[in-house]
Amino acid sequence: MSQRNLVLLGPPGAGKGTQAELLMADFDLPYYATGNILRDAIASGTELGVQAKEIVESGELVPDELIGRVIEERLDSAEAEDGFLLDGFPRTIGQAEMLEQALEKRGRGLTAVLLIDAPDEEVVRRLSGRRTCVKNNHVYHVDFDPPKIEGVCDQDGSRLVQRDDDKPETVKKRLRVYHDQTEPLIHWYEDRGLLRRFEGTRPPEEVNSHIRATLATLALEAEI
Ligand SMILES: [Zn+2]
Repeated sequence: MSQRNLVLLGPPGAGKGTQAELLMADFDLPYYATGNILRDAIASGTELGVQAKEIVESGELVPDELIGRVIEERLDSAEAEDGFLLDGFPRTIGQAEMLEQALEKRGRGLTAVLLIDAPDEEVVRRLSGRRTCVKNNHVYHVDFDPPKIEGVCDQDGSRLVQRDDDKPETVKKRLRVYHDQTEPLIHWYEDRGLLRRFEGTRPPEEVNSHIRATLATLALEAEI
């Protein structure tokens, strides 16, 4: 069977997390989101984990080299034999080169980079319309999934608030960071013929079936 070594890219709010969940279920792939695998490494207490813990606790930015090693450790695990889903790494061209080398060393390569795209206005509309309940973090959307009574959680009756992360100013700032960091990376992968674009504005099931169709085509091409 051919491998599915995948990287997910896309702005916040375009539905990357949802697509990741669907792909994990479709293909039984391990999902490596940077934050999660760092937390796992720290919890495991390995030498690498201890190093990561010290850096995270000191409040410093975790250096590329360390994240790279944590990811390499995962690439060598049995669960990643047939593929993986990376999210949040690579974020820069330097990290992309690191990943390319790590894979080459193992006689592997990326199958595709899946860009789940959405225009900025749509991202702002989606994220700034979110409301979260103060008690259990139940999530609503003022347009797409409103509660029965405005400002009140259907499930536990607690107050709904807009999280700081979802405030329009914060969303715009996150989008600026995303464009600055990720646009060059998108071109870098485009040049390598690895980039595949998907419309994050389409319904999630539709995006998922487009991704599966693309992966099926790539698998056929790999066999020829
Ligand atoms: Zn609630």
